Amino acid sequence: MPEIQRRKTVTVKIGCVRVGSDAPVVVQSMTNTDTADVNSTIEQVAALAQAGSELVRVTVNNDEAAQAVPFIVDGLAKRSVHVPIIGDFHYNGHLLLTKYPECARALAKYRINPGNCSIGRKDDDNFRAMIEVAVKNQKPVRIGVNWGSLDQALLTRMMDENSKLAEPKDARDVMMEAMCRSALDSAAAAERYGLRHDQIIISGKVSGVRDLIDVYQMLAARCDYPLHLGLTEAGMGMKGVVASTAGLAPLLLQGIGDTIRVSLTPKPGGDRTEEVLTGQQILQSLGIRSFTPQVTACPGCGRTTSTFFQELAQQIQNYLKDSMPVWRAQYPGVEELKLAVMGCVVNGPGESKHANIGISLPGTFEEPKAPVYVDGRLMTTLRGDTIVQDFKKILDEYVKTRYGAAEKKELVGA
Ligand code: SF4
Repeated sequence: MPEIQRRKTVTVKIGCVRVGSDAPVVVQSMTNTDTADVNSTIEQVAALAQAGSELVRVTVNNDEAAQAVPFIVDGLAKRSVHVPIIGDFHYNGHLLLTKYPECARALAKYRINPGNCSIGRKDDDNFRAMIEVAVKNQKPVRIGVNWGSLDQALLTRMMDENSKLAEPKDARDVMMEAMCRSALDSAAAAERYGLRHDQIIISGKVSGVRDLIDVYQMLAARCDYPLHLGLTEAGMGMKGVVASTAGLAPLLLQGIGDTIRVSLTPKPGGDRTEEVLTGQQILQSLGIRSFTPQVTACPGCGRTTSTFFQELAQQIQNYLKDSMPVWRAQYPGVEELKLAVMGCVVNGPGESKHANIGISLPGTFEEPKAPVYVDGRLMTTLRGDTIVQDFKKILDEYVKTRYGAAEKKELVGA
């Protein structure tokens, strides 16, 4: 697969995580617990980190939340969860970061929204106060512009200027330009106030896919800060997953984007880790990073009139999910494993040959046998009622041999 040329950026360190340039594209997420509820927030951060979130953001919206932050970070450390915690600040960040220095110290990064930290002011003293805390504590900052909270004074000024032009631009273009200008002017101001160039990440989030692509292409062309990608509100379920993929994929394929978040709206009581798994799947589907073995399963058709094929695909998927926490530690590289579970012999053997292990189940009216291919070669043909168990055994053996220490020694010896 041709390599994606990542856009050149500076590298920003957030705790132990590097973001930008040649560092892997980082998956991050955000809690939806009340940050002041220390135990619930610790639980959710731990779950997000366990799912693979490499950075976790928490809102710091009031005194109670700011007071809770050091206890959250401490509680996570006691559980050996060392994921960097980012504080999300709006409106009152300047007050909270200065009033609660332990919160400022405990956080690994601050997210500042330049559109709402100086509302009603003619100066940028609130923004400056936050940057000065960041400088004092040597913390990186994300300048996070959102079109829903874009600096209204800047936008109004730019709209006025535009209306006086002989050929005014489209209002959407002015909005895009205002987002870029808000982000880049704020980054320049942050540097004037003492933050280093390699302590700044930028985002310009919108909720429309085409707008997202345009605004990030503009930002990418104008700076070398790492960029955090994501739709500001992706939405629920399938809509959120598809919109995020449609927005992020073209940018990531152009090498634009150094961290991503998929901002899914969970169902009430739903699993917050879905946004992490979706982000990982986007990167893995694009061949950018590998997180978990991939199962290629055909959609099935009139040739697969029994549910056996779907059941096998589901069972294999579940088996991989259950095995991965152990396999990940025991068998480095196993996340690159590719499996194929196919419904009949039409595409089955061909697809199986492209996978590490592939099985073609018998379609309707086909002989009741299931050829298994390993590394492109027919290894065996399974029959009878134990096809699932037999296939899992082949899978276990393959993982052990291919990714286990014994195999590594053999390879080193060879
Ligand atoms: S592999 Fe066979 S069962 Fe699956 S979609 Fe193709 S023809 Fe249908």
